[in-house]
Amino acid sequence: MKINRRRFLKLTAATAVATAFGGLGFVPDAQALDRVAMLGPKWSRQTTSICPYCGVGCGLIVNTDLKTRRAINTEGDPDHPINEGSTCAKGASIWQLAENDERPPRPRYRAPYSTEWKEVSWEWALGEIAKRVKKTRDATFTLKNAKGQVVNRCNGIASVGSAAIDNEECWAYQSILRSLGLVYVEHQARICHSSTVPALAESFGRGAMTNHWNDIANSDCVLVMGSNAAENHPISFKWVTRAMHKGAKLINLDPRFTRTSSRADLHCHIRAGTDIAILGGLIKYILDNDLIQKDYVLTHTNGSTLVGEKFGFNDGLFTGYTKNGDDQDYAGSYDKSQWAFDKDSDGLPKKDPSLKHPRCVINLLKKHYERYDIDTVSSVSGADKQKLLEFYRLYSATGKPDKAGTILYAMGWTQHTVGVQYIRTMAMVQLLLGNIGVAGGGVNAMRGESNVQGSTDHALLWHLLPGYLATPNAGLADYKTYIDAKTTPHLEGAKDPMSAAWWQNTPKYMASLLKAMYPNATAEQAYAWLPKAEDGKTYTWLQLFDAMSKSEFKGFFAWGMNPACGGANAGKNRKAMANLDWMVNVNIFDNETGSFWRGPGQDPKKIKTEVFFLPCAVSIEKEGSIINSGRWMQWRYEGPVPRGESKSDGHIMTELYDAIRSLYAKESGAFPEPIKNLSVDMWKGGHGFDAHKVAKLINGHFTRDVTIDGKTYKKGTQVPSFALLQDDGSTASGNWLYCNSYTESGNMAARRSKEQTPEQANIGLFPNWAWCWPVNRRVLYNRASCDNTGKPYAPQKAVVRWDGGKWIGDVPDGGWAPGTKYAFIMQAAGLGQLYGPGRQDGPFPEHYEPMETPFKAHSFSKQLNNPAVLRFAREALAVADPNYPLVATTFRVTEHWQTGHMTRHTPWLLEAMPQIFVEMSEELARERGIENGEKVMVESIRGSVWAVAMVTKRLRPLTVMGRTTHQIGLPWHFGWQMPHDGSGGDSANLLTPSVGDPNTGIPETKVFVANVRKL
Ligand code: SF4
Repeated sequence: MKINRRRFLKLTAATAVATAFGGLGFVPDAQALDRVAMLGPKWSRQTTSICPYCGVGCGLIVNTDLKTRRAINTEGDPDHPINEGSTCAKGASIWQLAENDERPPRPRYRAPYSTEWKEVSWEWALGEIAKRVKKTRDATFTLKNAKGQVVNRCNGIASVGSAAIDNEECWAYQSILRSLGLVYVEHQARICHSSTVPALAESFGRGAMTNHWNDIANSDCVLVMGSNAAENHPISFKWVTRAMHKGAKLINLDPRFTRTSSRADLHCHIRAGTDIAILGGLIKYILDNDLIQKDYVLTHTNGSTLVGEKFGFNDGLFTGYTKNGDDQDYAGSYDKSQWAFDKDSDGLPKKDPSLKHPRCVINLLKKHYERYDIDTVSSVSGADKQKLLEFYRLYSATGKPDKAGTILYAMGWTQHTVGVQYIRTMAMVQLLLGNIGVAGGGVNAMRGESNVQGSTDHALLWHLLPGYLATPNAGLADYKTYIDAKTTPHLEGAKDPMSAAWWQNTPKYMASLLKAMYPNATAEQAYAWLPKAEDGKTYTWLQLFDAMSKSEFKGFFAWGMNPACGGANAGKNRKAMANLDWMVNVNIFDNETGSFWRGPGQDPKKIKTEVFFLPCAVSIEKEGSIINSGRWMQWRYEGPVPRGESKSDGHIMTELYDAIRSLYAKESGAFPEPIKNLSVDMWKGGHGFDAHKVAKLINGHFTRDVTIDGKTYKKGTQVPSFALLQDDGSTASGNWLYCNSYTESGNMAARRSKEQTPEQANIGLFPNWAWCWPVNRRVLYNRASCDNTGKPYAPQKAVVRWDGGKWIGDVPDGGWAPGTKYAFIMQAAGLGQLYGPGRQDGPFPEHYEPMETPFKAHSFSKQLNNPAVLRFAREALAVADPNYPLVATTFRVTEHWQTGHMTRHTPWLLEAMPQIFVEMSEELARERGIENGEKVMVESIRGSVWAVAMVTKRLRPLTVMGRTTHQIGLPWHFGWQMPHDGSGGDSANLLTPSVGDPNTGIPETKVFVANVRKL
C-alpha cells in the first residue's frame, strides 16, 4: 500500500497512542489519555540516553512500558549539564523513531532485475551476504601490487558508514573491514568535517573541537561563521545566550540572515566561498593595528620561527608547484620541502624573539596578507565595508590577555575546495589573539552527527587507524619501517628539551592497537595483515564513488548512510550503484540508497544489483557510548528492546562476521589469517556483541604482569592511562586516546556527578560528568592559558593554574612545571603553528574562487581556483557560465537531519517541515517573475530539483567585484523515498559538484552555481 504524507501522519499518531497504552491490557478512548500517569514507575521504567542527532550530545530520559518494552516517551534530562532538560524539535520526537510502523521488522532482499523487495530471515540474509563477501574477496584479493610490494588488499568491496553507530560498534566495524582487507573505508566524517582534522592538527596538534559546549558561556565574543548554530545545534545556543547575558557580543557572517543572525549584535551578508578573503582581512587588521597578544605569540606559537629561503609566493602560487595532467585526480601538487623552516646545526628551527627578522613567520604573515585590504576584501566578498570593519574591531578586542573570543563553525566552512584553509585562517587568528587553551576561546568545530567525533576517533576512514595513527601504505613494507617513518619527525622535534613531541610514543600506541585487534600475533605479524594503500594514492569518498562509477567494485556496504542523497553529485552516486553486483544497506528505515534501483529515472528490470536491507535498532534500543562535539564520551542505556526482529549494529556486524569466519574455516580462501585471528570473540558476552567488553578493550588491558616505575600491574587489569601503554605487546588498547575511559574504577563514560572544585565550577568543567578524551581533559592545550610562570592570562576564569607545585583546575596538557615544556604537545616543535608547512595547498591560506563561480577572475591573484584541487577532469563545471549565474548553497533546518532519513520518517518533524524549498531574494524573484510559494525548478550543470520558492528579505543581492550577484539556498534533507508520494521533493545534492579539498577530499557542497526558473 502506498502511503502519502497525510495518511502517514494519521497512521503513526494512532500507532503511538495504541503503543503507549497497549501494555495496560486496554485501549483507553482518547478523552481518557493521561500521558503523565503512564510515565510513573508503576507502568514504565526510565533509562538515560543521549540524543542521536547533532553533536551537542543532549541528555535524554526514555520511558519504556514495563509490559510491552516499547517506548512511551523521550524528554530532555534535567540533570544533564549541557541541555538542562531542554531539547530541540528533533530531540523531543525520538520516541517516534522507535515506535514507527515504517520500520521494516525483518531483513529484505531485492534480487537482480527484480521490481520488488522480498522479506527474508536473518539467517538466510547473513548467510548469503557472507557468501558474497567471501566470493568477492577471494576473487579480488591482491597480495602484491604491480611493483611487487606486499599490499594484502581486497579491491572489490567498498564501505561507507557510519557516524550514527556507537563507539564500540565503530571500532568493531573498522576492525572487521580491515581484517577483510578493505581500503575503501569511508564514512560521514569525510563529507562533513574531514577538513577540520588536518586544519586543527596542523595548527594545534589535534583535530578536535578545542573547548566544549558549556564553555561558550565564558566567552567575551562569539563569532558564528560557516554555521547556523541557533538552528542546527539548537541547544548550543543556550550557552551562547548565557555568554551574551554576561555581556558577550555575538557576531554572525553568513550569506543568509538566519535564526542565528536574528540574535546577533552584528550580522553581515557575505558571498558564499569568500571567507578566507574576509578572515585574511582580519589578520591584516590585527597585524596592522598591533593587536596581537604578544606574550602568547612569543611563548606559544611559531610566530618567531624563521622560514627557509626556498619558501616564496607569487601571484596565487607558493613555491614548488607542479601542474598535473587531466588524467590525474588532483590538479597539481607542491614539493613541500621548499616550505621548510630554517634549521640550526642540531636540526631545530631557528627563532628570532625580537620578531625583526624578515623571514620570521610573523613578518611573512604580514607580507602575505598585505593584499587583503578592506576595499579588496569587501569587493570580492560582497560584504559591507563598515560592517566588516566593525567585525574586525569587535573580534580583535579579544586579543587582550583577560578577554576570550570563540568561533563556532560547521559545514559552511568545511565543505569547500579550500575547506582546510578556511579553518586554518581562523586558527591563526585565534593564535594571534591568544584565544587557544583559554576559557571562552578555542576553535569550536560543531559536529553535526551524534557520534561523528567518535567514528573519526575510531577511524572509519581510509587514511586512519584508531587514535589518528596512519594507515600503512605499500612503501612501508614492515612494522619497523612504518614505525621509523611515523616517529622520526617527532624524535627530531624532541631534540628541543622544551618539546614533548608526543607522537614519539607512536610505537606504544600502534603495538597496543595491533594487540587489541590480533591478541595472539606479534606486532610484526599483525602489521603484515593490515591492508596497504598504494603509495601516493588516496581513497576518499569522491574517489570511491568515481571508482564505483567505473565498475571497480562488486560489493558495497552502506552502513547507516544514505549516499544516494547525502553525497555531492548524488545523481552520479545513484547511477554508480547500478554497477555493483551486490549491496548491503543497514539502516532503521528503507532509504534512497537501498532502493536506488526503483528511484526516479531507474528501470529495475535493467539493474542487476542484489540488495540486502538489514534493519537495525534505534539508539534508545541499545547500549553503548557516543562522543559529542566537545569530546564528552557519554554512555547510553537500552530502553525499549529492538523493535520487531531488528538488531543492534554490533549484533549485525558480529553475526555477519561469524558467518564469514565459518566459511573461511570450512573452505580455503584468500589470505585467511587476519579473519581467523581477529579478536572478535573478545567482543562478545552471553548474548552476542557486548558493548562493555568492547569499551574495555578500546581502553586497554595488561596482557601480562608488568612493572612500571616500581608499580606492578597484573595481567588482565585495565590500563589506567595512555602514559602506561607499552610498545612490547604487554598492553592491548584498541584506541590509545580512549585509554582512561574504562578503568578498574569502572565505566567513566557513565558517570553522572556534577561535583566540581571551585576553580572547575567557575568555568563549568564538569570533570565528573561522563568522560572526555584525552584523559578527561576538558579544554585542549590548556597550559597555553598561562604564561611561562604558570600564571593564567585571565585569572578571573583560569582553566589551569600552577599552585603549590602542581597544576589545579582542568587536567593539564602534561604535568610538567611551568616554563619547562611547550603547551602544544602534539606538535613536533611544541608550538601553535601560524605557519603550517604540512598541508597540500600552502603554509598560509589564500583566497581562491570556488570551483564553480560566476567570475572568470578575482582580485587577489591570477590563480582562479585551488591549484591542488581534487576534481575529475571529465566532469564539466560551470565557470562564468551565463546559464548558471546564481551562487548557490545548501543548509540544514532544525526539524530535519542530514539526508532526512530519520526525520522524514518522524511524523511530527515531517509535518513541521514537509518539503524542499529554495530561498531567494525579493529582487531575484522579481527578475524571474517568481511568487512566494510557487514551485520552481533549480538547475545546475549536473541536474535539477523542483522546490517551493521562499521569497525572503533574508537573502539580498550583493555587489561583487562591481557586479550584482544573487545567491540562493536550499536544504538538503529531502529524497524521493519518503514521503512515498514524492511530495517532499528530492535531494539538493543532485545539484552539487564532485570536487574536493586537496588535503582531505571533502566535497564542495556549500557553494556551486545554479539557475532558477518558474515551472
Ligand atoms: S539535535 Fe542536537 S540540540 Fe537537538 S536535542 Fe539533539 S543533541 Fe540536542
